[in-house]
Amino acid sequence: MSEAEQVDVVIIGGGPGGEGAALYGSAAGLKIAVVEKDKMGGTCLHRGCIPAKRLLETSATYRHISEAKKFGITVGEPSVDMVKAVEAKQQVVDTLHQGLRGLLKRRKADVHEGVGTLQADGTVSVRYHDGSEGTIVADNVILAAGSVPRTIPGFEVDGRLVMTSDELLDIDFVPDRAAVIGGGAIGCEFASMLADLGSEVTILEALDRIVPGCDTDVTKALTKAFKKRGVKVQTGVRVNGHTPRDGGGTSVHIEGSDDLDVDLVVVSVGRSPYSEALLADGTGVELDERGYVKVDEWCATSVPGVFAIGDLIPTSQLAHIGYAEAMLVIKQILGEAVTPIDHDRVPWCIYCHPEVAFAGLTEEEARARGYDVVADKHKFTGNGRALIVGETEGLVKVIAERNADGTAGQILGVHMMGPWVTEQLGQGYLAVNWEATVDDVAAFIQPHPTMSELFGETVLGLTGRGMHS
Ligand code: NAD
Repeated sequence: MSEAEQVDVVIIGGGPGGEGAALYGSAAGLKIAVVEKDKMGGTCLHRGCIPAKRLLETSATYRHISEAKKFGITVGEPSVDMVKAVEAKQQVVDTLHQGLRGLLKRRKADVHEGVGTLQADGTVSVRYHDGSEGTIVADNVILAAGSVPRTIPGFEVDGRLVMTSDELLDIDFVPDRAAVIGGGAIGCEFASMLADLGSEVTILEALDRIVPGCDTDVTKALTKAFKKRGVKVQTGVRVNGHTPRDGGGTSVHIEGSDDLDVDLVVVSVGRSPYSEALLADGTGVELDERGYVKVDEWCATSVPGVFAIGDLIPTSQLAHIGYAEAMLVIKQILGEAVTPIDHDRVPWCIYCHPEVAFAGLTEEEARARGYDVVADKHKFTGNGRALIVGETEGLVKVIAERNADGTAGQILGVHMMGPWVTEQLGQGYLAVNWEATVDDVAAFIQPHPTMSELFGETVLGLTGRGMHS
């Protein structure tokens, strides 16, 4: 056992939460140690956001080439080499990984490559990959061990017939037919990717709608857009395992319905917090019944000086929430004033085709919370830029509170589906979080021609004097 290292903050887990805390803390002069059992960057960089969005770009490129005719360009039938696509994806990941490591080094944040465990005395022990052990003593501990894909009975992940996002990101073939179990963010992104690459895709969702969480008008529009592209969406289904078939493929058993014969099953039914080896006996850190670390609105656990952030706690499992929680905790450690994160107003971006993006309340939620609601929506069909790029499917919906005089007041939610909406949400996010009114936002100029004119037009419509509506 080497001598104990003394730092200001020790972080267990180097995904967006831990990496964010290390970078933000070291930038402020704190001495930081991060213990990471795999690679810095975590799920987001190695098994999530970055590789998934890169593969979605491969499928988008394939789609654009297939549709080149509508721009007057004649090309042959495209074909995709998944081995090369995965290699190209890996280059993006490796570049970012190298950059992150370099940045941490320049900031003098120590990265310990091994498994970190919080001990009952508040120190963190490290079991290094070479078999040696060490101890880190710190004034504050941040638990940021992340999450792993959840699985369901009857669908054992074998990396061949049944995959989670972990395996799918290294897939070396395009299945002829695929079943995607779970129509959340991951399910919709992978269904979209596989469909663009030529798979016949069926989404099997237990609830009565896909992408639960966004406004029902957006869900309806996305379901319609998926169906138009040949993606079948079955909701309210219960899957009961699968039986591999002689000669290849497998039959997915669906309660009360015919089996679905496919070549690949993608299980995307959520992610579970990962707390294996994280806590020794007697630390006092409490977990809830699902395994999440219990925290208050300041990300403080039941033990003073021990915080938890990211997918390990029961807030939205989004990389940018991990970063936000990291900053919240580091600021507290620095003794700075902080405001808790308003989880009702965080930005959501789903990178399927068409894209989905939203922040703030849905119309349903706003009504359920007792607001007198006024909402308006506009379609991309009349937007110049959308017509220019040839992608007019989708809408922008703005939900506002009705003033006592009947006019539209504060913007409560902005929900979008369509081309590049993940890049357009920014204005809606700011409007919701700055508690802007419809009149405040309607006064701003939208550059022309841009897709964002549709947000401007929708807000203008809510003033009662839309220009194009
Ligand atoms: P999710 O919770 O977003 O969606 C899972 C879906 O699976 C839900 O709609 C749920 O009803 C359904 N489901 C659960 N059990 C089922 C069953 N037995 N049969 C059929 N359907 C079932 O989870 P996810 O899509 O796996 O993503 C995991 C986490 O990662 C989420 O928190 C997600 O927000 C996050 N993520 C976000 C993005 C993004 O924002 N672009 C991308 C990927 C992942």
